[in-house]
Amino acid sequence: MEKLVQGIHAFQAHIFRARHELFERLTTGQNPQALFITCSDSRVMPDLITQAEPGDLFVLRNAGNLIPSHGAAPDSGEAATIEYAVKSLQIRDVIVCGHTRCGAMQALLQPDALADMPRMRDWLGHAEATREIIAGSYRVADAESRWKATVEENVLVQLENLRTHPAVAAALSRGEVKLHGWVYKLETGEVFAYDPVRGQFVPMGEAANRAPDPAGKATARASA
Ligand SMILES: [Zn+2]
Repeated sequence: MEKLVQGIHAFQAHIFRARHELFERLTTGQNPQALFITCSDSRVMPDLITQAEPGDLFVLRNAGNLIPSHGAAPDSGEAATIEYAVKSLQIRDVIVCGHTRCGAMQALLQPDALADMPRMRDWLGHAEATREIIAGSYRVADAESRWKATVEENVLVQLENLRTHPAVAAALSRGEVKLHGWVYKLETGEVFAYDPVRGQFVPMGEAANRAPDPAGKATARASA
């Protein structure tokens, strides 16, 4: 904890004062470039990996970067945050970013490990489609490959869930919002983006510049 308190002092002394114009401008409002939906994992740092500035990213985080489908969790913070981002802030790009070595995705593959965590077990129900896809398509893969595939397939499943939210569906129908599926690779710092043309995750910059196919059924073949 002491490290965090020292960090606050250092921020005020060296960062906030030096960039006071930026922080003063931000007191009048925000106009973020993207809604960034990712895992709570401490090793995933949205601002750092994208080199974003204060005010650039509107961030939604939870265990496993899950997005309950519309109606599946009516009072959820996820539904409210997505609605606010798209309707009020009029954000045009929504990113769902999973990450390698995700503990939530590992738990999805090993539900017995959740015997004493009933809330987590229930929460991972929003990734049941991911579990089914992996159970059906990756039976012969080794444990590490299955884990990585689970991370990738889950990004695609959650993008599908995202489309069920009325604000997102309406914005998509008007061509006002783009959805992006990313995976951050902890081991190398690389970010892979889902390429709907090739049906796989490819290094950032190589992905086709268009939203994932609405069907979203292409298998997330491994490259991350
Ligand atoms: Zn995670």
